[in-house]
Parts: sequence; C-alpha cells; structure tokens
Amino acid sequence: LLEMNHVKKSFDGNGVLRDISLTVKKGEVVSIIGPSGSGKSTLLRCATLLEKMDGGELIYLGQTAASEKTDKNGRVQCEYASKAELHNIRKCFGLVFQNFNLFPHYTVMKNIIDAPIHVDKVSRTEAVARAEKLLAQLGLSDKADAYPYQLSGGQQQRVSIARALALQPKILFFDEPTSALDPELTAEVLKVIRQLASEHMTMIIVTHEMQFAREVSDRIIFMEQGVIVEEGSPEALFTTENVRVREFIGKLQ
Ligand code: ATP
Ligand code: MG
Repeated sequence: LLEMNHVKKSFDGNGVLRDISLTVKKGEVVSIIGPSGSGKSTLLRCATLLEKMDGGELIYLGQTAASEKTDKNGRVQCEYASKAELHNIRKCFGLVFQNFNLFPHYTVMKNIIDAPIHVDKVSRTEAVARAEKLLAQLGLSDKADAYPYQLSGGQQQRVSIARALALQPKILFFDEPTSALDPELTAEVLKVIRQLASEHMTMIIVTHEMQFAREVSDRIIFMEQGVIVEEGSPEALFTTENVRVREFIGKLQ
C-alpha cells in the first residue's frame, strides 16, 4: 500500500532522515518509536506530503508521488508527481496530529463534513450520514453540534479521528495522538485506535505508549538519529539484544 525507499531529508545541512526505507501492507499496523528528535514526525510529514523529501521514493498503491532524479550536476533531487496526481494520492491517507487541529469556529459536525463536501465532492446528505455513523462508532453522537472548546481533549481527539476517517482513507497516520492527554483520556483514544486495528485499518502510529504499541502493532520500528535501528514484531523488539532499543523501551515502560 505504501512504499518509502531510501528517503532522505535534511534541515540546514543536518540529516534528519538518512536513508529510510519502509513498506506497509494493507491491514498492517506499524508503530514507530524512538527518542525525541530522531525524525519520527519528519518521516510522517514526508509520507503525507507536508514536507518535501530531498531524496528517495514515495509510492502509494503503485502510484509514484515522488521519485529520485540526478540532475546534470550529479545532484540527487526528488521529483514530485503533478498537482492533479498528488491530489489523487492525498486521498489515500489521513493524518491525526498530537494537538487535534480541529477548526475552533466549526461545530463537530462541520469539522467532519467540511473536507468530504469541499475536497471529495460528496453530497451534503451523504457526508452527514457518514459523519453520524462515525460519531456513533466513536461514542460522540451527542456532540455533533458542540464546538471543540466544549469538548475534553479525548473527545476532541476522537473527533479528529472521525474527521480523518470521513475521507475514507486507505491508510491512517497518527503522530503521538495521546501525548497531549491525561491517562484517562488517553485510554479512550487508544480504545478507538485498537478498535480500528481490529477492523484491519492500515495504520502507522508514532507513539510513546510502549504497552499499547506492543499490543496493537504487527510491526514496530525503532528510529534513532534519522535511521531505522531495528524493526520487527513486538515480541522481537521487546526481547531484543540491542542495547539502545532495550534502554529506550525500558525507560518508557
Ligand atoms: P519528538 O519525539 O520530540 O516529536 P521526532 O522524532 O518527531 O521528535 P522530528 O520532529 O522529526 O523528531 O525532528 C527531527 C529533527 O529535525 C530535530 O532535530 C528537529 O529539530 C529537526 N527539524 C524538524 N523540523 C524542522 C524544520 N521545519 N526546520 C528545521 N529543523 C527541523
Ligand atoms: Mg514528533
């Protein structure tokens, strides 16, 4: 479903992603863990076209979003697909941020139906029907007319998950979806993600919730200083001999 090959990204000459390759299959849940500054968010931002890569390839469902070209001076660059193609490719994925990023002046319902109507050209009736179904699934039916400030952090995060799902993405990215939440609210958001995993939603989750990652993931990736240091099943990661991975996991458990 998603393929990233030899992705490179620097900020001011600092290699933040140094040759990252990652493949995600349909139905897979992949968690990305690693210390602060290791490049996890940058990787998600490159995958979701919010950030341009300096090198490497990005492919969704066989459609190439970006590929590597060497110019006549021998410099490697990334060449992106056309605007229309990228517009199409963006429909493949949804993104849920740490800080919810809801529109504060829109109700919950409007937050969810806005993109389906304006980007996806879904009819209003259809968009509302989808939103109502999602709100019911996420335990938020009574909040359709509320504004974000009237909701708890956990409820806001569930709305932002509903908003992402309303566009019917093939793959959902989460960047530390619970790190702004209290433990109790964290639990309700993790429950929703667990539910999505049981429905075989393809997901890539950057998280510091080690036990959750262990339980929900098919595969865990440990990143440090812009490279994938170790990658494997939760069991493999949690019983690794790699001292850095052990230290990191140990610290957070
Ligand atoms: P955290 O766990 O704290 O969220 P992270 O693994 O998500 O960390 P990134 O946010 O990807 O790390 O940042 C990786 C490195 O890239 C950091 O050193 C950061 O300062 C740098 N960086 C990220 N975005 C930019 C930017 N827009 N301009 C300059 N440097 C940046
Ligand atoms: Mg981050």
